[in-house]
Amino acid sequence: MALSDFTSWFDQPLSKLYYNEDHESWRHMYRRFVDKEIAPNLDDWEDQGIFPRELYPKAAQLGVLQMGYPEEYGGVPDTDHFFSIISAQEQARSGGGGVNSSLITHTIGMPPIVNLGTEEMKAKIIPGIVSGEKISALAITEPSGGSDVAALQTTAKREGDHYIVNGSKMFITSGTRADFFTVAVRTGGLGRSGISLLLIEKDTPGFTATSLKKMGWHSSDTAALYFNDCKVPVENLIGKENEGFSIIVGNFNAERLGLAAMANALAMVCMDESVAWARERKTFGKRLIDHQVIRHKFVEMAKRISATQAFIEKTAWQMENESMPITELSMVKLMAAETMEFCAREAVQVFGGSGFMHGNKVERIYREVRVYAIGGGSEEIMRELAAKQMAF
Ligand SMILES: Cc1cc2nc3c(=O)[nH]c(=O)nc-3n(C[C@H](O)[C@H](O)[C@H](O)COP(=O)(O)OP(=O)(O)OC[C@H]3O[C@@H](n4cnc5c(N)ncnc54)[C@H](O)[C@@H]3O)c2cc1C
Repeated sequence: MALSDFTSWFDQPLSKLYYNEDHESWRHMYRRFVDKEIAPNLDDWEDQGIFPRELYPKAAQLGVLQMGYPEEYGGVPDTDHFFSIISAQEQARSGGGGVNSSLITHTIGMPPIVNLGTEEMKAKIIPGIVSGEKISALAITEPSGGSDVAALQTTAKREGDHYIVNGSKMFITSGTRADFFTVAVRTGGLGRSGISLLLIEKDTPGFTATSLKKMGWHSSDTAALYFNDCKVPVENLIGKENEGFSIIVGNFNAERLGLAAMANALAMVCMDESVAWARERKTFGKRLIDHQVIRHKFVEMAKRISATQAFIEKTAWQMENESMPITELSMVKLMAAETMEFCAREAVQVFGGSGFMHGNKVERIYREVRVYAIGGGSEEIMRELAAKQMAF
């Protein structure tokens, strides 16, 4: 990555250390998709509070939804984490993360099914997801808390061939329109050893969802879910009963890398946008960028973005080649959210009043910062997880 003669982060060549020609062509294809289907509509979708469901089959046509899924069910296996980093960057270029968060909820909802589901379950679910006809979501967080997963309260009581599920889930992405939910439930006693994962279908009697309004990510579908005596067949158990906690914890790894890649890419957008503005805008007889205080802001942004990107890519390499780097994943997610927070703040500042105005990319990204610092494991939880792993 060379930062001399800076124009845009997104013009930088991909590092040959990690990326090959397949990644390069994926970058071009994904960019065309985002430029055609998402970027021109993002402002409208954010104002409307949703994006059209037709985007899923369109994404599937390109191959976005198939990555990492078995070939026999219509997927494209053996795609590494560097494809996901590129996808996050290209999505971020459009100027917000809301569409991406809903469009790819299958990347958090489906891995437990792909890895531990029965063949019947996989054959029933995966083809619809990878073709974009069906939507998958992950439901862990509850109104009583998301950080302490081991304390979750939604119950699934075995009665003959069914579980009877009662409880509720909170802040669930794709919550109002997902067809299949991967739901964490309590099948046993208190604590982590009493948790299981169940596949629950949208049309199960007793299931309802209500949409939630948010600070940012307006175009993303976020909902509260309610389970009232939902009768779920025992065949819908994912993995073994009372062994769900370790599946949930393992599922966080790829999610955290994806959130880090997205947060840092949104930081890149903040820098791109504010540099372009500072090259045009004049105050006190010269361009903003000719004021030392302003151009030093960009050096500080570039420093943090470069360091975060290097950490993201190194962590992705470890995920591919070594044992799961839990400590690094916790720290890189934390670091990326902090980089995004810093860059969004400075970018809005460089824009002045215009940065506070609706429709400006940096205004939207500023409102999205906190979800990257909270969702998928908050800053405090990431620090503590890293500390525990490092065995201080
Ligand atoms: C837009 C959005 C989309 C989301 N999508 C999904 C989804 O699809 N599926 C899903 O399951 N969840 C989803 N979440 C939930 C998200 O993962 C949780 O919000 C997150 O894990 C934190 O849980 P909580 O909000 O209940 O906060 P709490 O757990 O109540 O924590 C509140 C605050 O206290 C801090 N805290 C908690 N415990 C400690 C401690 N021991 N020491 C120090 N500080 C502590 C936390 O860091 C946080 O800052 C989403 C959230 C948002 C905002």
